[in-house]
Amino acid sequence: MSHIASEIAGLREELPSSVKLVAVSKFHPASAVMEAYNAGQRIFGESRPQELFAKARILPGDISWHFIGHLQTNKLKMVLPYVSMVESVDSEHLLGAIDRWGKENGRTTDVLLEMHIASEETKQGFTRDGILKILSEAGNYGNVRISGLMGMATLTDDESVIRADFAKLVALRDEVLSDRSGFPALPEGFGLLSFGMTHDYRIAVEMGADIVRIGTLIFGERV
Ligand SMILES: *Cc1c(COP(=O)(O)O)cnc(C)c1O
Repeated sequence: MSHIASEIAGLREELPSSVKLVAVSKFHPASAVMEAYNAGQRIFGESRPQELFAKARILPGDISWHFIGHLQTNKLKMVLPYVSMVESVDSEHLLGAIDRWGKENGRTTDVLLEMHIASEETKQGFTRDGILKILSEAGNYGNVRISGLMGMATLTDDESVIRADFAKLVALRDEVLSDRSGFPALPEGFGLLSFGMTHDYRIAVEMGADIVRIGTLIFGERV
């Protein structure tokens, strides 16, 4: 068995069946995606529009692509026709543009709102208040389905910091679900949480992640 196939098999054993694995294939060639595909993996994550576009056009049509990077509105055409979910919606401007694209193209796009939970200033994402505002106005976006929240923890070996970051996502989701009255247009299925990467996915699973996004463990270091 190849390294990629054995990592996929190992993760399938380890992860609870309720947790979706997004295999993050960014910076790795289509042949690496195919190795994972042949091991049964069907959900892949990409963070650059051009790269997603190039892979999606040549790889099997039953792959479900998740876009997980910063998305500029002038790149939507390269991304939205090919993805089943945009996990990294980080501004109202982007959400509005995805919605307009959907209206023009007769599509509804599944999205997650990215919350800024890390202590690094550079990471993208909404504040808690920014997310609450969007969720309360979900009715303005007829062609997106806001399915949940996504986040990236601080890059650290300190597990207590990672747990505190992830806890912000869990708490906000639970707060919204506990009283939907402020969010009349929230989609029925709202509540998915995407958090956890190679170095912190075990903590994420333990804390209730619905989606984990794992790249390096499966495909090796990005070059
Ligand atoms: C690259 C990336 C991942 C995967 O990171 P690994 O550490 O390689 O598992 C997950 N989520 C996002 C948003 C990423 O950009």
